[in-house]
Amino acid sequence: MTCKTVQRRLSAFLDGELTEELTRQVGEHVSRCTECAAELARLQKVWQLLGSLPPVQAPPFFATRVLAQVKAGRRNLVERVGELVFARPLLPIAVSVGILAGVLLGSRLGSWITGGYRHGSEALVTQVATEFESFGDLPPGSLSEAYVTLASANNIK
Ligand SMILES: [Zn+2]
Repeated sequence: MTCKTVQRRLSAFLDGELTEELTRQVGEHVSRCTECAAELARLQKVWQLLGSLPPVQAPPFFATRVLAQVKAGRRNLVERVGELVFARPLLPIAVSVGILAGVLLGSRLGSWITGGYRHGSEALVTQVATEFESFGDLPPGSLSEAYVTLASANNIK
């Protein structure tokens, strides 16, 4: 048994939680290894100091109050998530519009960086209209489709 293995089992050795065979092996190792014997002595000292501390008395209804706070915390989390998702119907719309705007802006920047960007307001209008056409596979009835239809109807094309 290696020193690392023995030292990992010293706590259980002191508590008498090892099997008979492991207790014998750890005891044998400690009897001939000064490093592990020193570690065992340190651990025994800590155990003795902990044992000399007076027991701590929990305040009345401690467990009940902790459990109540845990339950309240869990409920608050659910309420906050519900509030974000359901009580603010504009949030998903704002996120969708933001994502669409990001995609369009990214596409335009990409064209500009690669040199494919055409100058002039008419060319820009044509470019935007072309980009809208690339969203032709949007699921029918989706918010994205409605947005693209609305943008197209506003004579961007
Ligand atoms: Zn050792």
